[in-house]
Amino acid sequence: MSNTVVIGAGPAGLTAAYELSKLGVKSTVLEADQLVGGISRTVDYKGYRFDIGGHRFFSKVPLINQLWDEMLDEDFMLRPRLSRIHYRGHFFDYPLSAKNALQGFGAIESLLVGLSYLKAKCIPNGEESNFEQWVSNRFGVRLYNIFFKTYTEKVWGIPCTEISADWAAQRIKNLSLTEALRSALIGSGGKTKDGQIITTLIDEFKYPRYGPGQMWESCERILADKGNETIRGLRAERIRHKNGRVECVYARSDSGELVEFGGEHFLSTMPLRELVNCLDPKPPGEVIRAANELRYRDYLTVVLVVNRESIFPDNWIYIHTPEVKMGRIQNYKNWSPHMVPDSSRSSLGLEYFLWEKDDEWEWPDERLIELGIKESAKLELVEPSEVEDGTVVRMKKAYPVYDQTYQDHLAVIQRYLATIENLQTIGRNGQHRYNNQDHSMLTGVYAARNIVGESYDIWGVNVEKEYHEEGELETKTGGDRLVPSRMVPSEEDESNDELIRAAFAKLDPVAMGSAVGLVGGIGLFLATSALMIAGGPNVGANLKLLGNYLPGFDASWIGAIIGGVEIGILGFVMGSVGAGLRNWSMSAYTSFVKRRAEEKLSRDILDKV
Ligand SMILES: Cc1cc2nc3c(=O)[nH]c(=O)nc-3n(C[C@H](O)[C@H](O)[C@H](O)COP(=O)(O)OP(=O)(O)OC[C@H]3O[C@@H](n4cnc5c(N)ncnc54)[C@H](O)[C@@H]3O)c2cc1C
Repeated sequence: MSNTVVIGAGPAGLTAAYELSKLGVKSTVLEADQLVGGISRTVDYKGYRFDIGGHRFFSKVPLINQLWDEMLDEDFMLRPRLSRIHYRGHFFDYPLSAKNALQGFGAIESLLVGLSYLKAKCIPNGEESNFEQWVSNRFGVRLYNIFFKTYTEKVWGIPCTEISADWAAQRIKNLSLTEALRSALIGSGGKTKDGQIITTLIDEFKYPRYGPGQMWESCERILADKGNETIRGLRAERIRHKNGRVECVYARSDSGELVEFGGEHFLSTMPLRELVNCLDPKPPGEVIRAANELRYRDYLTVVLVVNRESIFPDNWIYIHTPEVKMGRIQNYKNWSPHMVPDSSRSSLGLEYFLWEKDDEWEWPDERLIELGIKESAKLELVEPSEVEDGTVVRMKKAYPVYDQTYQDHLAVIQRYLATIENLQTIGRNGQHRYNNQDHSMLTGVYAARNIVGESYDIWGVNVEKEYHEEGELETKTGGDRLVPSRMVPSEEDESNDELIRAAFAKLDPVAMGSAVGLVGGIGLFLATSALMIAGGPNVGANLKLLGNYLPGFDASWIGAIIGGVEIGILGFVMGSVGAGLRNWSMSAYTSFVKRRAEEKLSRDILDKV
């Protein structure tokens, strides 16, 4: 009997098995599909290889970078990145640059964009509760419509007026306060605080020679070499538990056979909604209801094989043109030349973001390919006659949706699952979290280590750590990528402002005035008194000069009191005015820092959608 049963051979499940194997624990991985890699798979169609979307490999977690290098070695390449925005016949640089945008618009549209920007700056919308208002206030309505509205709505299927402004504002929270200050003062010089070049993430990324699936096929092979099984084509459909422990998993094979897998520990990467509904006996009604309320955005790729050596230089293009449904287009040959079997051909992946209930989801492949050809021609990227072949891949539950209620539902499910001691849920849909591969993998590593007695907080991966001692600020809802939520009143901005307020704590003018006045007044009184007590032929000759400025002051006991009071009053006025001026300049400076940081980060928002 294998010690651990892992459900799902995506990055999280395979990494967990890999870490377990290093720790000397055997595992069996059950995979419903005929491919490993989950959403990070590579599909092979007649030698043309393509991703679900495009999978860049980058991580700020050193352990994950080390694991990728171990799993793939020299087939892990560093690739250049180019991705532009297509809008009504024009290509715009990405990240956005004002100069290039204005060139693309032409004179009249540039003027209108400029006027709309000026209007936003002079007469901003007083309310900033939704995404549309937030972006329009910073860029003007016209730029918002071109660069933000269409793409965001295509990806999320929610009108921007219903997306909370927090979603956009959240980006500023990824900046550490010290970094924001440093960049405002001396410029960041393109480096993060740990010295990495920021542009690295934007301009280059790592990628397996034959696509992301190669990483996971390699991991599966390494596992097999060490005596761990990965079984494809087995869908877990019943998880039997008793007295707070899972006893076994029943999985159905493609041929319909039900196979039982017992074990001591169980890890699941299947979507939480499915997991809860597989439990036997069933959890209480409120847990099932919570699970059934979790929502997912689905996704499909239309792949076109095109008889042209080079179509465009980008790895991918964001399609903002509102006249087509396509949201993004991938050119796999530019990710890696090894993704096509014939260098005189190219293969494009046209990405459509859908709900399963949308009509297009049910369309036959031929109709979707036809749509893809028509839209590519409309964008003037491809001539229909150049398309030689095509295929469609549907990926259900590609994006866990963060709506207004998901956190409450998640809390109910989490509380219940915590009662089953030998079951851990990991990965993207396993935790209903908008993780990239790295964070999905990290949950796998932690779960494996927990099995051998450590106690990592798996639910704490990719979650905001609030403001902690080192002065860092991180996001709360989690995810390097941002997921919009429908509008809810937020305490996030307040806590951010709190932080800035704490860092630049205001001086109380009355307290400051009183302190300066008291110190000055008492100081003068004591100095005069000391000279009086010391005595001599000409007491306090120098001090007497103060009498020119302080009426009634001289080197006598009465003079000391009058002078002390006068200095006290003068000190109070100077102290409170000084505190007021300091508060005003700090507040102007923090607004400047915040605004500059926001503007800098707005440039790469699309990467995070
Ligand atoms: C369009 C798109 C682009 C992306 N781009 C990037 C990127 O550039 N870089 C990056 O790092 N990440 C990217 N990601 C995220 C990345 O794909 C995921 O983080 C990662 O695949 C999650 O791994 P996982 O193992 O948690 O889940 P999954 O990849 O979903 O794997 C889960 C596996 O479990 C299997 N399974 C489910 N139910 C059962 C069951 N009942 N029985 C048995 N098996 C089951 C599934 O078939 C699947 O193989 C992207 C995601 C999308 C949708």
